[in-house]
Amino acid sequence: MLTGMATLAFSATALPVPASAMPRGPRKPTIVIDAGHGGHDPGTIGFSGSHEKDVTLAAARELYIQLRATGRYRPILTRRDDTFLGLGQRVELARDVEGELFISLHADSIGRPDIRGASVYTLSEVASDAQAAALAQKENQADLLAGVNLAHQSREVSRILIDLMQRETKNRSAVFASGLLPELARHTTLISSSHRFAGFTVLKAPDIPSVLLEMGYLSNRQDERLLLNPNHRAKVAQATVRAVGRYFAQKEFLRPL
Ligand SMILES: [Zn+2]
Repeated sequence: MLTGMATLAFSATALPVPASAMPRGPRKPTIVIDAGHGGHDPGTIGFSGSHEKDVTLAAARELYIQLRATGRYRPILTRRDDTFLGLGQRVELARDVEGELFISLHADSIGRPDIRGASVYTLSEVASDAQAAALAQKENQADLLAGVNLAHQSREVSRILIDLMQRETKNRSAVFASGLLPELARHTTLISSSHRFAGFTVLKAPDIPSVLLEMGYLSNRQDERLLLNPNHRAKVAQATVRAVGRYFAQKEFLRPL
């Protein structure tokens, strides 16, 4: 008996358990909307003195209202008011609420006031080895990594599984970004190479497709005027909602995370 039980226990924990195998009723995808900066961090200061943190919060609220109005998603704001949140806290929050998509809203600035336009960033690398290693060392990460139970895996197997998950997350982020750009182009100027890659900490959730949308340049007079205009922010939100719809329509054809 004892031997049999031990074998059962072993076979039950030897393989990762995909989330799709777990019983779960239909639920709306959670979309995390992240208003960049806040509190003592104003972000960039615009041509006429506007603060990025205010523009991002107004845009995030608008996107929240529009996503909610579709009845198809569960939008969550990382901040609802003028408070400071660390980048790590934003990612943690997204994982706590089991976000399926993370959209960080920002507005850029640059020394040349003639430069304007929006752009979308996704993470430049799958992840650094150090990050994957740090994640793998956490004992209790079964809950953290959606769908893969790593509690009984060796460190090496954990690293491989995390790496695979990060690759797929990166692919999905790129799928969303490439659907978002043409939608944005209908309402707003894009900079020439509008899909960009960078190592933003806020994009580093290993299991949540994440993009950072720079909605325009506050250092440009026209872009600033647009971003301070609620009608323009509503159009940016509409474009994003359409891209979200497109992404979730495609999502079932992507490999499971
Ligand atoms: Zn910013």
